[in-house]
Amino acid sequence: MATYAEMQQIFDDIRGDFRYDHELNGCLNCGICTATCPSAQFYDYSPREIVQLLWTENVEQIYDAMQEKIWACAQCMTCAARCPFKNSPGGLVAIMREVAIKHEMQSAKDVLRPFGRVMLKLITTGNQLSPDMIQPDHFPDWGPNIQKVEGDLRILRKAIPVKTLQTVETAWEVSLKTSVEMYTIWEMTGVLKSLELMDENLFDVIEDFIDEKREDYEEWLEEQEEDDGA
Ligand code: SF4
Ligand code: SF4
Repeated sequence: MATYAEMQQIFDDIRGDFRYDHELNGCLNCGICTATCPSAQFYDYSPREIVQLLWTENVEQIYDAMQEKIWACAQCMTCAARCPFKNSPGGLVAIMREVAIKHEMQSAKDVLRPFGRVMLKLITTGNQLSPDMIQPDHFPDWGPNIQKVEGDLRILRKAIPVKTLQTVETAWEVSLKTSVEMYTIWEMTGVLKSLELMDENLFDVIEDFIDEKREDYEEWLEEQEEDDGA
């Protein structure tokens, strides 16, 4: 359990985020955001409650909400489109999650742990799913609705103009230059730093992978220069 001073610091970091004043403009307590929130239908979660907690600046309850509730948000931003005050509860949740990571909160680690393989794939290839992976047999946990989408997806796949988005084989085959650019973006935007705070082992695996790709890219560049000079 954090001390009051730590909870206050966490709230100060949330409030200090450059997006905060843009996302929170007051609250009528009208509940429109919660009425339209898909996550509120299934979890003990309410965007109205999050906004009210932040608006009233109750640091202990904000800290409590960061243990579980904020991780229920699907980041769909329906709330932001509907709020008469132009608040963005989803945007505020995004800030709270980033601060939870910065403070290495256990709740953030617990939420992210099952997604290690997904993060590895996303960070190393830039994507996780390609359309041909979405097959009824591969997603039994999606329930009976997955059976309905299979037929339509065949047509949708053909409509996607970018070839690399259509199959696993091509979607996961990323050019060296694009890979290195992606890693630079992950690095400069703080994604890799956040990952290191959350899961050091996964970070080490990804860092080795990135180093290897960068070396391959340097070699490739040298070969190109030699060819150009020849
Ligand atoms: S819709 Fe906006 S004003 Fe209404 S409760 Fe939600 S955040 Fe507050
Ligand atoms: S962004 Fe989050 S809080 Fe807002 S409607 Fe979507 S799930 Fe609900």
